[in-house]
Amino acid sequence: MFASVIIDQDAKALDKVFEYIVPDDMTAKVGMRVIVPFGARYIQGFIIDLNDVCQYDQTKLKKIQALVEDFSAIKIEMLQLMKFMTKKYHLKLASVLRLFLPSEMREGKVKELFITKYVLNRECQAEVSKNAKKQLEIVEFLKENEIATSAELTQRFGGSAVKSLFEKGIILKQKEQLSRTPSVIEGNNKKVNLNESQLNAINTVTEHKTYLLHGVTGSGKTEVYMNLIERELAKGKNAIMLVPEISLTPQIMSNFKSRFGDKVALLHSGLSAGERFDEWKRLFSGQATIAIGARSAIFAPIENLGIIIIDEEHEQSYISESNPRYNTHDIAKFRARFNCCPLLLGSATPSVESYEKAKKGEYRLVELPVRANGREMPRIQIIDMINEIRMGNSGIFSSQLLSDLANVVNDKKQAMIFINRRGYASFMRCRDCGYIAKCSDCDVSLVYHREDNRLKCHYCGKQFKVLDRCPHCHSENIKHGAVGTEKVVSELQAIFPGVKILRMDNDTTSTKNAHQKILNEFKHSLPGILVGTQMIAKGHDFENVVLVGIVDADQSLYQTDYRSTERTFQLITQVSGRAGRSENEGKVVLQTYAPRHYVYKFASNYDYKGFFRKEENIRETANFPPFSRLIRVLFADIDENNVRDLLKVCYNSAIKLKDKYPNEIIYMDAMKSPIKRMQNKYRYQILLRVRLPYADQIEDDLFEIVDKASKNSVFFEINPTNLS
Ligand code: ADP
Ligand code: ZN
Ligand code: ZN
Repeated sequence: MFASVIIDQDAKALDKVFEYIVPDDMTAKVGMRVIVPFGARYIQGFIIDLNDVCQYDQTKLKKIQALVEDFSAIKIEMLQLMKFMTKKYHLKLASVLRLFLPSEMREGKVKELFITKYVLNRECQAEVSKNAKKQLEIVEFLKENEIATSAELTQRFGGSAVKSLFEKGIILKQKEQLSRTPSVIEGNNKKVNLNESQLNAINTVTEHKTYLLHGVTGSGKTEVYMNLIERELAKGKNAIMLVPEISLTPQIMSNFKSRFGDKVALLHSGLSAGERFDEWKRLFSGQATIAIGARSAIFAPIENLGIIIIDEEHEQSYISESNPRYNTHDIAKFRARFNCCPLLLGSATPSVESYEKAKKGEYRLVELPVRANGREMPRIQIIDMINEIRMGNSGIFSSQLLSDLANVVNDKKQAMIFINRRGYASFMRCRDCGYIAKCSDCDVSLVYHREDNRLKCHYCGKQFKVLDRCPHCHSENIKHGAVGTEKVVSELQAIFPGVKILRMDNDTTSTKNAHQKILNEFKHSLPGILVGTQMIAKGHDFENVVLVGIVDADQSLYQTDYRSTERTFQLITQVSGRAGRSENEGKVVLQTYAPRHYVYKFASNYDYKGFFRKEENIRETANFPPFSRLIRVLFADIDENNVRDLLKVCYNSAIKLKDKYPNEIIYMDAMKSPIKRMQNKYRYQILLRVRLPYADQIEDDLFEIVDKASKNSVFFEINPTNLS
């Protein structure tokens, strides 16, 4: 027998299938990890195929040295997924395979896997019924052999026989290794009576199909998720639920733990490698049947899925922006298809792309239109910051926000102050009229580049002189830059001495459990103010928060991609959802320099549909996704001449695609990347915007051109959000 093996190494030259001879006494299976001779070394690989004939000269083939373990670490579904991903995203086989395994099983860091063994339970009085032939055979087998691995028993007699014997207590697990299961805080396990919309949602989500659950903040989506999972578990099926890393709060984890106990495995970046490995094993072995985690949990080693849920489906963190690049939605669809189960996408603010699909009937829309506890959404008051300046207030806080904060402090309640400090990109703004410098061709904000003192468009590469005077009102009061959380905290401390003011952002949450500590401290601070970035926007349920202040809403509005308005709408809705979640009525103060921008009108009225229609219209007119596709091919090399030459070669071929697809290619150009050098590599790119009907073909043609020209790997990005 011959095995097709891929090597667990990332180099492009090794990115192919190698053939090996399977020794006669080796029971090799597809998906197994193997040790193979490679050049002068022995390295780890994976069997992706077994054949009776070989493609190459048999006399030159080498033998597989050893199996790493006696089961397939990669299951059939994942092997198919690997093929799907390498084709769709032009990725290397090895880099995809690595997504499926915890780091401890890669790169030779081979660790003994947890293996369950069974023995007969001599204390047990229960008897096996005469009709259960397989079970009787297992008992006989164990009498003879004393001990056997779970894998062996399952292979010989079937998993269900093993399971029922174990459940009756007739056989015992021998060696149960202690799992390093991550600790969680105490959860809330109150039973609620589902309302009509929730019941309707649950009864609708039944078939293999993609459903979009549009439920306002506080509408009880989590309850829907839990009930769906419960239903599938009762059928003997398993589930994956994804939440954005940022909202993987201790709260949500503990709620699931208290509902489902040890059946839940948590996968997130806060775990140590060991914890991750143990959770992976619990899923792989079937001990845990629900995987909850961030993006990468979509690769959880679970079979027989009954449902896949993606909460906050609009979140950009579902798109992997570093190698290997992939879109979690695509993977979820693949797995839902493979398992023939429903895929549920949930959000209070679905992405324009997903809502468009629901509109066209590709997804089925399910709605939760009101808050589950019957509370109103908090009122959003828009404050015109230019007016504040005119009135002589040039500080960070409007007078309205200050007086509302003073009330919160007096009433011993809580407030959250939200700052958007994402992208360090800074744009130029007129402090008198709110004018923002935009690209003349692309209608996106220009980014100020300090090193060459210029404004640049991250979409087309066009450069502009820095403004010294506002073209709109001729004021010279033009500034770039943004306020940060630190500054806000120090100002608040000066205004409200003695009040507990906490800060939550990347800098204050880098250590393990820091997140949790800050939130716990806030919970017990009355009065208290929590200042933070998007980290505070999601999932938190604090009953004493009565005020939310959005200090500079425009920050996300003027980021440089076509999704910035959408993102602003989403952020405002999410942040606002933090206020007034219990008896306490809530309020939101939203500060902006562009109070008449349509996004604020729709967001302050919680009018998602209105916003969607407007945004859809703009995107369609301007030919932006979901009505077109953006493709970025990113080249990077330590040697700038190399990368520039490569870019030239590729671009000269790529430009010919314009003849082949004269109407489909809306835009194509080659340029330096906005961030010219990263991790010591020079970065150049080809950018395209293409119409949808031929987008796949253009992408494939382009890949072929680039792949032929390049020795190293080149990154393809589809509809990237971050063009830096
Ligand atoms: P969402 O995820 O949609 O923002 P949550 O699932 O966090 O909303 O629910 C908001 C609150 O409403 C939670 O405290 C939850 O326990 C509660 N809740 C959910 N469903 C019901 C219900 N049917 N009746 C009463 N309270 C509910
Ligand atoms: Zn432009
Ligand atoms: Zn101006």
